[in-house]
Amino acid sequence: MSSPQAHGRVMRDQARQSSIDEFQCARCGAVYDVAITHRAPRAEYDAICIVCCEVMNEWHGTVGRAYTLKSQPAHA
Ligand SMILES: [Zn+2]
Repeated sequence: MSSPQAHGRVMRDQARQSSIDEFQCARCGAVYDVAITHRAPRAEYDAICIVCCEVMNEWHGTVGRAYTLKSQPAHA
């Protein structure tokens, strides 16, 4: 028997199973789904909020991240 706790979240998030995380823009509060993508070229990466154009996050490496806007703040 596997732990029921380990499966609870997976089942609830079935609709967006490719996403690994959620990220909220610190400036405007927009919420993004973060998914790993291997399509991005090898380079430096940054995630820019499409609502307020602020750089939300930066990282390095060969694996890219796709940020998909999930919900915008009401005042944007
Ligand atoms: Zn923002």
